[in-house]
Amino acid sequence: MEKVLIVGAGPAGYTAAIYAARAGLSPLVFEGLQPGGQLMTTTDVENYPGFPEAVSGPDLMQRMRGQAERFGARFESALIDRADFNGSPLKLVADDGRAFEGRTAIVATGASARYLGLPSEQALLGRGVSACATCDGALFKNVPVAVLGGGDTAMEEALFLTRFASQVLVVHRREVFRASAIMAARVQQHPKIKIAWNSVVEEVLDVVKNEVTGVRLRDVKTGQTTVQAVNAVFVAIGHDPNSKPFAGQLEMDAHGYIVTNNTRTRVPGVFACGDVQDSAYRQAVTAAGSGCMAALEAERYLRGLGE
Ligand code: NDP
Repeated sequence: MEKVLIVGAGPAGYTAAIYAARAGLSPLVFEGLQPGGQLMTTTDVENYPGFPEAVSGPDLMQRMRGQAERFGARFESALIDRADFNGSPLKLVADDGRAFEGRTAIVATGASARYLGLPSEQALLGRGVSACATCDGALFKNVPVAVLGGGDTAMEEALFLTRFASQVLVVHRREVFRASAIMAARVQQHPKIKIAWNSVVEEVLDVVKNEVTGVRLRDVKTGQTTVQAVNAVFVAIGHDPNSKPFAGQLEMDAHGYIVTNNTRTRVPGVFACGDVQDSAYRQAVTAAGSGCMAALEAERYLRGLGE
C-alpha cells in the first residue's frame, strides 16, 4: 500500500509531490491525460515568482516534475476515473481497471476551461487563443483583442486586458451580462471596451496564417455575419472542475468544486488542492501553494497514525 497517492499533475499535484517526496513518503503521482495541466497550453508565464524573464508553461511544469522526481516521487500515466474512500485503505481505480491503495490521497485534478469547440479555435490555441488573460494578456500590447463570455470572469479579463490592448471587444451571446452589476457597469463604461451583444463567434481567423487575425461573428438575432480584426481571443465562458471521479465520495459545491478546509476534505486522509477546490484564484502560484499545504496535511495525518 502507498503512503501518499496524488491524483493530478499540474502545479498543485507536482508541488504536493515535491513536499511529500522530501518528507520521505515516496508519493505516487497519477499524471492523467495532460501531464502538466492547464499550463501546458500557455506560452510565457510572467507572473510565477522567481522567473523575472518569464518561463514557458511547459518548461515550468517540466521543472516542477523534475524537482519532485529528484526527491523520490514516482509517476504513473494512469487516468483515475473512480475512487472508493469508504474504508481504509483508500482506493483509486484507473480507466484501464488498475486499482491503487493508499493511506492518504491528494486530489489535484484541476479544472478545465470551457471552449467553444470550434476547429479553428483549437487550431490556434496558444497562438492567440487563450483561456487566461492573466497569463497571456501582456503579450498583446497595443493591438485589438476579443473576450468571449458575459460572466464575471469575462468582465475581469476584459478590464485587465484594457491595460495592454488598444481595444477590447467583448462578445456575448445575449443582450444582458450574467456578471454582477458592478463588474458589468465597469465594462460598459470603459472607453477602451466595445461590446458585441447577441453575438457568437463562428470562426477564429485565420488558420492559414497560423495566428489570430480576427473573428467572424454572427448576430444571433439577425443572422448577419461580420469580421472583426483582433490579434487575440480570450475565451472566458467558464471552467469546470475535474471532480467527476470523486462524485459521491467527496463533498462538492453546486458547481462541482470540492469543499475543503485548509485542503482537508470531510474524508479523513483525503486532501484536495489547486483548481479542483478553488473557483476564485485559479493561478499556478496559488495552486502550488495549496499543493504544499495538502502535502503537509497528509504528512501530519500519517504522523497521527504513527506512520
Ligand atoms: P459563468 O458561468 O458565470 O459565465 C459564463 C459566461 O459564458 C456566461 O455569460 C455564458 O453566457 C457564457 N457562455 C457559456 N457557454 C457559452 C458558449 N458555449 N458560447 C458563448 N457563451 C457561453 O462563468 P465565470 O467563469 O464567468 O464565473 C464562474 C463563477 O465564478 C461565477 O459564480 C462568478 O460570479 C465567479 N467569479 C467571480 C469573480 C469575482 O467576484 N471577482 C471573478 C470571476 C468569477 P450566458 O450568460 O448566456 O449563460
